[in-house]
Amino acid sequence: MNLLESLRTVVGADGVLSGDEVSRRSAGFMRPDTLQARLLVRPRSTAELAAVLRLCHAAGQPVVTHGGLTGLVHGGDAGPDELVLSLERMNAIEEIDPLARVAVVQAGVTLQALQEAVERQDLSFPLDLGARGSATIGGVVATNAGGNRVIRYGMTRSLVLGLEAVLADGRVISSLNRMIKNNAGYDLKQLFVGSEGTLGVITRIVLRLFERPRSQDVAVVAVDSFAALSGFLKHIDSALGGGLSAFEVMWREFYQLVTTPPAKSQPPLPGDHPYYVLVEAQGADQEHDSARFNQALESALGSGLISDAAIAHSARECAALWTLRDDVMQIMRYGWPITFDVSLPIAAMEGYVAEVRAALVAWPEHHCWVFGHLGDGNLHLAIRVPTAARAEIERIVYEPLAKIGGSVSAEHGIGLEKKPYLALCRNPGEIALMRVLKQSLDPDNLLNPGKIF
Ligand code: ZN
Repeated sequence: MNLLESLRTVVGADGVLSGDEVSRRSAGFMRPDTLQARLLVRPRSTAELAAVLRLCHAAGQPVVTHGGLTGLVHGGDAGPDELVLSLERMNAIEEIDPLARVAVVQAGVTLQALQEAVERQDLSFPLDLGARGSATIGGVVATNAGGNRVIRYGMTRSLVLGLEAVLADGRVISSLNRMIKNNAGYDLKQLFVGSEGTLGVITRIVLRLFERPRSQDVAVVAVDSFAALSGFLKHIDSALGGGLSAFEVMWREFYQLVTTPPAKSQPPLPGDHPYYVLVEAQGADQEHDSARFNQALESALGSGLISDAAIAHSARECAALWTLRDDVMQIMRYGWPITFDVSLPIAAMEGYVAEVRAALVAWPEHHCWVFGHLGDGNLHLAIRVPTAARAEIERIVYEPLAKIGGSVSAEHGIGLEKKPYLALCRNPGEIALMRVLKQSLDPDNLLNPGKIF
């Protein structure tokens, strides 16, 4: 039997796609190309998936694992000789335990499906990002995704209690811990979180849940200097006593982009300030929390940290203000920009952005939009230049990060796109240890080969 026939005996004829059935599928979000792969295999269970990997291991067949294909760094790209392992059929929410506040899910469950199922039980899974409708839990765990509420709840890594993964040779590692505290030796789940499919295939995950917030307050405020911006972050975080759940900063050019047609939103504040912040608090008592939120903004106005504020007065108005930040696809207005996801100390941000902008004047017609999760030290830059100058633009954005202790990837991962820049923010000792881990878990280099390093 050849590999194709053997795979069909494991997952059934409709579990293996080949030829046109593969090449008709999109290569992913914001991608004009279609999928490349020798075969696409869709197991229905961990046992089937382990059998698939045993066959691939015996045949020396490289495997690229796919979730919702919403990644932005070419981490799921496959070549024509590679096999894509799709988790799309492993999409059951197996359990939600309201007392233990854990959910057990299969890797192919979408983020939004989990959020909604958990809310029906009066609980919350706080990880949130724009691609929630397509992104899968397996994918967000494999990439350690971030998003809008990291400032309160941390990255995906801090929300994973346990997981089950299948190694390159088909061995199943069950580490489905449900406890918040478990210090019995190495924390093996963390080895797979953020490994981008290179160390194992994550099949099931135990996630930490929280009580559903009972109140939400949102405002967009205008800020006139970077010093005031960082002062306002400290002020609001302190004044809200742990209630701060988002601190999304929009530099003026981004704010103007998302408040002018054809953008979805009208400007809630005039567009001539250098910075705008979408600030959100979540708590337990709407009346009490709104009073505290408004008072915190008033004192910020009084002390000059902010110069103007538009406060939402209903859930609908909260959603309308969030639309500003979520309407990020406006960066496509003048054609495809080059997008970046970098991390750096807040104290270095003003100088860093100025340095990048100064270098971009070499392209008189350029656009540079800056926005991001400032409270987490994470900025997104979208840069549009009329000529093809990708390598030069990447150098301009990435190189200054080395001297300020930043990272070329805050939350998107490395994939193929950032591989040439890994050494700017990881030292030789770190990269050598990464290679030791890869070598010991996947000595034949069969899982997502060529990604990260
Ligand atoms: Zn982001």
